[in-house]
Amino acid sequence: MTELPPHRSATPSRRVVRVEHPLVQHKLSLMRRKELSTASFRRLAREIGTLLAYEVTRDLPLEAEPIETPLAAMEAPMLAGKKLCLVPVLRAGLGLLDGMLDLVPSARVGHVGLFRDPHSLAAVEYYLKLPPDIAARLVIVLDPMLATGNTLAAAVSRVKEAGALSIRCACLLAAPEGLARFHDEHPDVDVFVAAIDSHLDSHGYIVPGLGDAGDRLFGTR
Ligand code: URA
Repeated sequence: MTELPPHRSATPSRRVVRVEHPLVQHKLSLMRRKELSTASFRRLAREIGTLLAYEVTRDLPLEAEPIETPLAAMEAPMLAGKKLCLVPVLRAGLGLLDGMLDLVPSARVGHVGLFRDPHSLAAVEYYLKLPPDIAARLVIVLDPMLATGNTLAAAVSRVKEAGALSIRCACLLAAPEGLARFHDEHPDVDVFVAAIDSHLDSHGYIVPGLGDAGDRLFGTR
C-alpha cells in the first residue's frame, strides 16, 4: 500500500474554502470590470495567485530542523516532505502560476492542456506533462474559472491517473453547479476559491463572472 502524504485528507469532504480576505475580494472586483486593461488583469491575477497560495498551503506540515543562528543553536520549523507541485490548466491557469511561484519558488510545475468543446462544453485534452514523483507531493491544480466543472474534473482525473494522492484546487471564481459537479466526481479534493457567483449562462460562462479569463489574460479578444 502506498503511504499517504501527510497533507492528504483521509475522508472525502467536498470541502470548499472561500478565501474572503479583503485584499482578494478587492482585487477580484477590479478584475471583473470590463474596461480593465490586459496588463492590469494579468497583474491582479498574479497577485491573487500569491494570496490563494497562502491559504492553500496554510496547514502544510512542519518538522523541526537543527540550525544555528548567529546567537545560538535551535530547532527551527521547516516544511516537511517533498516540494509542492503546481499544475496550471492551460491556458488560463497560467495566470495564477507566477503569483504562486513567488511564494513557493521551488515548487515543481506540471501542465495539463484542456480546452472546452464550444458545443458540448466537454473537456478535450491536448497536452499533459507532470513530474514523475507526483505521488509524494501535494498537487495544487490551478484553474481560474470553475464553470461547468468539466475541465477541472478532467484535469484532476489526469493528475490522479498519474499517481497523485493529495490534490487541492485553486480558482478565482466558481459557479455553484460547477462546484457540485466537480465534487460529485472528486469528493476528496478541496477547492479554494475567491468567490462563488450566481450561475452559468447558456454558453457555460459564469454570471456575473469576469468574462473569458484566458482572453483577458492574454489579450486575445
Ligand atoms: N471560462 C472562462 O474563462 N470564463 C467563464 O465564465 C467560464 C469559463
